[in-house]
Amino acid sequence: MKEVTGTLVSSYFVCKREVWFMAHELIPDQDNAFLEVGRAIEENFYSRESKGFDVGNLKIDLVREENEATLIGEIKKSSRYEKSEVMQLAFYLLKFKEEGVISKGEILIPKERKKIPVSLTEELENELNEAIEDIERIIIQDRPPQMEKIKFCTNCAYREFCFS
Ligand code: SF4
Repeated sequence: MKEVTGTLVSSYFVCKREVWFMAHELIPDQDNAFLEVGRAIEENFYSRESKGFDVGNLKIDLVREENEATLIGEIKKSSRYEKSEVMQLAFYLLKFKEEGVISKGEILIPKERKKIPVSLTEELENELNEAIEDIERIIIQDRPPQMEKIKFCTNCAYREFCFS
C-alpha cells in the first residue's frame, strides 16, 4: 500500500477526493495559476533563506536547532489552507517524535508576514492518527470519493478531473 505522506495529510484536510487522485499519481494541470503562485513564492523566499531539506523520506522546508528542540518550518503561500497546513506539519512532528526527536513547528507565510506555531498536543496527535487511518482507507479504494463541490475547487489543479 502507498505510504501516507505529509502531502496526502495536507490534501485530506482540503479534499478527500484529491487525496485519492494524488495517491494514484494522477498528474494535475501544471499550468494551474495556483501552482504558479506557489512556485513563485518558494523561489523568492528561498533566494533569501536556506533551501529545503530531505529528512528520511520527509521533505521539509526549514530545519534548525532552537532551545534544545528541532524547529521545523514550512513555508506556505497563504493562510487560506491553515487547517491542512497545521496537520501536515503535525504529521512531520509525529514522524520526528517516532524517531525520538523533540521538535516543534512553525508555519511561515511570507506574503502575510505571519508565523503560526504548531505543537503536537495529544488532541492534535489523536486527530492526526484518525486522519491517517482514513487516508489509508481512501487510497485502497478502486474509485475516488464522490465529488462534492467545495470552496477549494476554484483553485484546484485537479479541476479538470472533476468538472469536465
Ligand atoms: S476540484 Fe474540488 S472536488 Fe475535485 S479534487 Fe479539487 S477540490 Fe476536490
